[in-house]
Parts: sequence; structure tokens; C-alpha cells
Amino acid sequence: MARRWGRVVQGITDVLFPRACVRCGKEGDDVCSSCWSVAFGEAVALVCPSCQKPSVIGSRHAGCTSLLDGLLFAMPYANSVTHGLLRRWKFDYVRSVEPHLKRLIERLPLAEILGGDDWTVVPVSLHERRKRERGFDQAAWIAKTVADHLHLPAVNALERTRYTKQQSRRPARTTKSDGDLRSKQDLKGAFRARQSIEGRIILCDDVFTSGATMEAAAKACRDAGATSVWGVVIAKG
Ligand SMILES: [Zn+2]
Ligand SMILES: [Zn+2]
Repeated sequence: MARRWGRVVQGITDVLFPRACVRCGKEGDDVCSSCWSVAFGEAVALVCPSCQKPSVIGSRHAGCTSLLDGLLFAMPYANSVTHGLLRRWKFDYVRSVEPHLKRLIERLPLAEILGGDDWTVVPVSLHERRKRERGFDQAAWIAKTVADHLHLPAVNALERTRYTKQQSRRPARTTKSDGDLRSKQDLKGAFRARQSIEGRIILCDDVFTSGATMEAAAKACRDAGATSVWGVVIAKG
């Protein structure tokens, strides 16, 4: 029933606000096929989650310090289609972009790098209050998409303990990320595990910028028992 109403609302929204390509403005869909091929023609070079310098499979360099063992991201945030889709999703609450975001997630070498069945997929959850304001939790949607793709469980194992003001809701068009620019100090203890955690964890969020949010979430996972933590995001700022 809820799904049917969702489709009705989407139908009405499409009539009132016809979808247009985030890159060229062509009407019909959130991204047209030619902009998709231009934007996503090339493979992305992965980086170490600590120093953000190239790393073949996205794993942390031996000499670098991070609670993340590795990071996978589909595209740089500066990619015009990627940031157009993410902004439409997060700030305009347009959910018709989700099939395109799913295509981006499916470009990630998830099964190749994160093989095995001892992983649990965990979203870097929003605070409950922010979730109510936004109406959906984008990290939970990403975690579910990643988990379905890998046939793994998605568990909402982390709780955000602090409500913080949303950053850069609608700044002027910019190639800077809307992700987290807070310092590691600000985010210390920002997450708590709801339960004990076993095995390896794939932490999911939309954007990785300074890494402070994921680092805080990884700390909560490790404190609760995780043996390894990797980050998976759509975009890296
Ligand atoms: Zn286009
Ligand atoms: Zn490094």
C-alpha cells in the first residue's frame, strides 16, 4: 500500500516538477544516457583511507594510521553527475535518483575486494531527529543496496549520540563536498554500538571527506568487537 502511494506521489511530482538531467538539463530523467557515459567512462583510482594517496585496492598503507582497513568509493564528489545526483537526493529529497545511485554502487569492485560471507553491512546512521526531518536515512539505503548486492545482512548496529547542525545545506554550486568537514576531535564518541559486533564490518555512507565521521563510526564498531572495518561510499570529497 505504502509503495503504491509512493508511486502516486512520484507520478504527481513528475508532472509538477519534470525530471531533468543534472548535467545538461535535458528533460526526462535525472541523468540522460549521454551524460552518464561521459561522466562515468573511466575507472576510478582508489586511495588509502588515511593519507588519501593512491592504493591499488583501496586498502590502508602499511605505514598509515586509521581505524579503517580500506575504503571503496564509486566516484570523486567533484564529478558533476555524482554530486548533482547526491545533492538532489539529500537536499531536495528527490528519490527518483536512487536507481542511478544504485548503478553507481554496482560499479564498485565490492565482491572482488570484500569477498567472503563473514561481513556485516552497517550504515553510518543519521541521528534519529535528523532522520525524522529528512524522512529517510541515506546511509541506511546505501547499506541495504550494498548488502543486497553482496548477499550479506545489513544491520543498523550504530547509534549517533549527538545531533549536530546540518552543514552546507544549499551552498552556491561548488566542487567542494557537502560531506563531513568536522574535525576528528568534534566527532569523538559521536557513535555508540547498539549491540556487540562480530567479524568484519562494511561501513556505508554517502560521502567521505575528511574521514572524521567514518573514523568515529569505525571506532564504535571496533570497541564493540569488529575485527576489521572497511568503508564504502558513493563519493569521495
Ligand atoms: Zn544530460
Ligand atoms: Zn596511506
